[in-house]
Amino acid sequence: MSEETKILLLEREIPTHWYNVQADLPRPLPPVIHPGTKQPIGPQDLAPIFPQALILQEVSRERWIPIPEEVRRVYALWRPTPLYRAHRLEKALDTPAHIYYKYEGVSPPGSHKPNTAVAQAYYNKQEGVRRLTTETGAGQWGSALAFACRLFGLECKVYMVKVSYFQKPYRRVMMETWGAKVVPSPSPDTNAGRSILAKDPENPGSLGIAISEAVEDAATHEDTKYSLGSVLNHVLLHQTVIGEEARLQMEKAGEYPDIVVGCIGGGSNFAGIALPFVRDRLQGRTRTRFIAVEPEACPSVTRGVYAYDFGDTAGMTPLLKMHTLGHTFMPPRIHAGGLRYHGMAPIISLLAEEKVVEAVAVHQNPTFEAAVTFARAEGIIPAPESAHAIRVVIDEALKAREAGERRVILFNLSGHGHFDMQAYDEYLSGRLQDYAYPREAVEQAMALLPKV
Ligand SMILES: *Cc1c(COP(=O)(O)O)cnc(C)c1O
Repeated sequence: MSEETKILLLEREIPTHWYNVQADLPRPLPPVIHPGTKQPIGPQDLAPIFPQALILQEVSRERWIPIPEEVRRVYALWRPTPLYRAHRLEKALDTPAHIYYKYEGVSPPGSHKPNTAVAQAYYNKQEGVRRLTTETGAGQWGSALAFACRLFGLECKVYMVKVSYFQKPYRRVMMETWGAKVVPSPSPDTNAGRSILAKDPENPGSLGIAISEAVEDAATHEDTKYSLGSVLNHVLLHQTVIGEEARLQMEKAGEYPDIVVGCIGGGSNFAGIALPFVRDRLQGRTRTRFIAVEPEACPSVTRGVYAYDFGDTAGMTPLLKMHTLGHTFMPPRIHAGGLRYHGMAPIISLLAEEKVVEAVAVHQNPTFEAAVTFARAEGIIPAPESAHAIRVVIDEALKAREAGERRVILFNLSGHGHFDMQAYDEYLSGRLQDYAYPREAVEQAMALLPKV
């Protein structure tokens, strides 16, 4: 390590280890099941698409996993991220609550996602992989991986859902600026894409189709692996750098959270801020509440079931035991607020089943109202995803006011909303509609769950 880097890392207090909650869970995670044999899968089943180091992290029960020096050096570009006390928001709400937020929007791609993208690119590079593939919807994950691949000299191919490719060009341009190759999915580059295009040349694409293409690409190229941006255990592990930093920062502020809040799409940023504090609760030291916030339009935990399901829409991936709306879930078009994945991270699902994590669903108009309140008080314009957390933080702060209690609330501001001005515009001009995913749709989808 150069003298310069040593000083940089020392001064900036970047954690040396990720925290693996699998060491402390009240019961072990149910095994991942092979979609064909219906038997638990082994490491060799995943070897064609993931590097060995990440497969081992996926099943590890070691409490502490060292963050490689090269990864910390890249983290130092934007970590530690700031922890702010939201004094102005507290004042605007006239609440006795103390509100703290960890701001992950300072990373080059603008969200928490590079915390895992950088780690994944590093381990792939270590094992001689030359090229990574992935899918992206609106482009947040694709841009994080494009950035990470550039830093480690890997090629990056992103299958971007076709409607987003044409409707949201700026994230694509960001990925291309970092040197990634981005194609609209379904694409003519894979069997999965070609067969869909043959039937329907105008197919708008979906996350499920894009996953099928990215996985096929990785499985059929010797020098290529696949990378996933949420849900899996190793992704949540890498995100714990957020909460480990927050613990140190809260300690300096002389406070400990009574409530920790985060939004959930696949569960990774919420896990990142929450799990290091969940450790204290699981080990019996604290009684902190953990609130995971999801949209009413995609209520995986509040209205889904805890069952084995596919990770993708096409039904090609291994089966995970998780809260799911069914892999046939189609996100409603009118929903502007992100967080549209049908499933949930198995770790978060288990903690919700064990009543360690509470889940709440919120509508998009109140969510954007909270986003605007926050932006006007604190200055930062939050990503619509992060605004779901802010809605519940404001509600909890108002409850604290009613109760006349000083509660300490910590939340993760997972990203900035600079590429989401169209959604803000729709809200500000009164064109945003609330939508609750119908219960009957969940019941119908349950009939199509794989039998295990
Ligand atoms: C992708 C994303 C999310 C949702 O993903 P999780 O895995 O649940 O964290 C939330 N916020 C931002 C800013 C995102 O980019």
